[in-house]
Amino acid sequence: MKVWAVSNQKGGVGKTTTVISLGGLLSSWGFRTLLVDLDPHGALTSYFKMNPDNIKGSVYNLFQDASQKKRNIGPAPYIVKTDFDGLSVLPAATAIATLDRQVAGMGGMGLVISGALNKVQDDYDYVLIDSPPMLGVLMINALAACEQLIIPVLAEFLALKGLERMMHTLGMVYHAKSTPPHYTIVPTMFDRRTRAAIDSLHVLQEKYPQFLWNSVIPVDTKLREASKTGQPISLYMPEAKSVAAYSQLLDQLLLFNHADAHKSAVV
Ligand code: ATP
Ligand code: MG
Repeated sequence: MKVWAVSNQKGGVGKTTTVISLGGLLSSWGFRTLLVDLDPHGALTSYFKMNPDNIKGSVYNLFQDASQKKRNIGPAPYIVKTDFDGLSVLPAATAIATLDRQVAGMGGMGLVISGALNKVQDDYDYVLIDSPPMLGVLMINALAACEQLIIPVLAEFLALKGLERMMHTLGMVYHAKSTPPHYTIVPTMFDRRTRAAIDSLHVLQEKYPQFLWNSVIPVDTKLREASKTGQPISLYMPEAKSVAAYSQLLDQLLLFNHADAHKSAVV
């Protein structure tokens, strides 16, 4: 099982859309896929027609079990199968908004999700974690659990400032970790017709050549249409331009996995 997180401290950059689009593709390519919603707004959870305000089992239960030192039953009872083959969701509850206050100062709370996912590692090929746009216990859990970190970014100058902040945060979070995840910066909602987008892509290429994906996710209004139907875009409209772009991204991410597997086989 491989765990990927999609994270950026900046809001509205396409995190949730990226998780759902990649998740839809992974499952239709035959991989058993689990999407984990770590955002108190529960946009991913709502996408699949569940209500984060009154959900019964969710990631919240995992944190409760851990903080009360209850026997850890793992996430399996809280995971919901979607209508789409091979695609499951571990939903968020609005209540996770209070976690930072509840678990402040409690040890081990950054590893709740990675510990929980260990318990279902034979059940899924890929886990994709959606994270909230702020640094706190939930984002820390996403960062600690993943071996691949996908950072969506808008190609505009203000967003580049936000990316600097995110890279600084990552430096702090991972400084003690011997194997930080592989980073992939993904320009999203890219509009080739605007000068600002082209210019900021050049800045990204100069500043982060080692992390920047070599293509972009274009602006695609079909993504919003898909979200109304509750289907991943690749099922709603396979010929949409964002599907081609997300497929290309997925090919790239899967390649890194093979490279990793090869490395460990050699070692
Ligand atoms: P938040 O930080 O609030 O969780 P987010 O980073 O998860 O936001 P999304 O919710 O994925 O961002 O996207 C924000 C909005 O932009 C949504 O309405 C989504 O449908 C739209 N969107 C995402 N990607 C694209 C795209 N490539 N083209 C056009 N619209 C897009
Ligand atoms: Mg989101």
